[in-house]
Amino acid sequence: MLPQKHLTRSPDETVELGRRLARQIQAPRIVLLVGDLGAGKTTLAKGLISGLGMCKPEDVLSPTFSLVHEYEGDPKVYHIDLYRLDRVPEFETLGLDDLWDEHAIVLIEWGEKFSDQLPRPRMEIRISDNSREISDSGGDSREISVFFQA
Ligand code: ADP
Ligand code: MG
Repeated sequence: MLPQKHLTRSPDETVELGRRLARQIQAPRIVLLVGDLGAGKTTLAKGLISGLGMCKPEDVLSPTFSLVHEYEGDPKVYHIDLYRLDRVPEFETLGLDDLWDEHAIVLIEWGEKFSDQLPRPRMEIRISDNSREISDSGGDSREISVFFQA
């Protein structure tokens, strides 16, 4: 399936896009947020999590150090960041296996590092700096591609 492509020109636009995308996500769902450091994964997650009705965008904090944030709702939402993990045994100690059977939406930053360990199908959202657009518009553009099945 072809990806849905979006362009955002500010962090606020990325949050807003996340809020709109949230309407297209139903539990149970695993969503990989893919992109370099500073690409905007956490910014998009602020939109997704607030759009799913969990809290305000500004209350979504990066799980870089805590690794897993859990939002109590119906369905539950998990926001995970695997940046600090390097090896499969470290990943396994997180015990995420129990999550896959839950009726939850699981957002994962740096999930591609453990692609083989994460179940399919999943949704994948890829974010990249769009330097061509930056020089054109002078703004901080991001290209955001949504793969509903990956
Ligand atoms: P990641 O989680 O991918 O490491 P963050 O979302 O934490 O990235 O940070 C993205 C950074 O890029 C923030 O400092 C944000 O202000 C900045 N930024 C600039 N333009 C955009 C944009 N269009 N969308 C998202 N973030 C942007
Ligand atoms: Mg992040």
